[in-house]
Amino acid sequence: RAPLNVHARVAPLTSSLRLVLIQDRTRERQVETIRRDFVANVSHELKTPIGAINLLAEAVGEAADDPETVVRFSARMRAESDRLTRLVQQIIDLSRLQNDTASDDTAVVKVDELIAEAVEHSTTAADGREIEITVNSLTELAVYGDRAQLHSAVSNLVENAVTYSDRGGRVAISAERAGEDVRITVSDTGIGIPDEELERIFERFYRVDPARARATGGTGLGLSIVKHVAASNGGTVEVWSEPGVGSSFTLVLPAPGLEEEHM
Ligand code: ADP
Repeated sequence: RAPLNVHARVAPLTSSLRLVLIQDRTRERQVETIRRDFVANVSHELKTPIGAINLLAEAVGEAADDPETVVRFSARMRAESDRLTRLVQQIIDLSRLQNDTASDDTAVVKVDELIAEAVEHSTTAADGREIEITVNSLTELAVYGDRAQLHSAVSNLVENAVTYSDRGGRVAISAERAGEDVRITVSDTGIGIPDEELERIFERFYRVDPARARATGGTGLGLSIVKHVAASNGGTVEVWSEPGVGSSFTLVLPAPGLEEEHM
């Protein structure tokens, strides 16, 4: 590219500056593409439950003299509207997390409280399908981070473990200290994830089996939220899985330092 060469000859400093700017434009374009894809996905995902609610409302209107049908369609309308509510909440959570601004709500958070809340959140679903949830964690364990975000991450992992387990399955939650970190692991004896899908499950709206996810009310956003929560709280997520055997997700988070411990 001629203009770049001219600048390079005149002043090397300017040339490196231009190079930086060009790289930035590439990044800008990538961000723009990701943003556009996200908006397209969001519109598509929102239209599905809204369309279903519309059709069901019409059907209820036509079935006014058949109370049984009205009850059945109303229940389906409620399920679709629950899905819509969940989807909107997760989209809001995700866009907050992606705002890149550091959370101003960090504190020392007790791990057993995070786990208890997550179990509570999934108890009804687990009981309904006779899935046993066990917890093995030391009461004094704590992490340092944004409480609401961490709550959402652990709850998402437990919810997935229950959702992707068959009737009578087992979910085990454990937490341990490992050096400077705390490791919170959620394991299940569920359907598992094929190797080639493991990278992709953390992408927004990605589901291994879209039909099954839809039937169980999945949005494809849960693990994306978990990944962002880990990153914004200085941690990581690890996953192990084997189809037909089960999966295990570990949230690795920094333990509070001495200074934070006394806050
Ligand atoms: P969803 O709302 O669909 O559960 P997630 O982002 O939480 O979205 O998960 C993405 C996909 O990863 C799921 O649709 C499912 O295919 C797979 N997945 C997540 N957790 C598990 C698990 N514990 N066992 C098996 N598959 C899982």
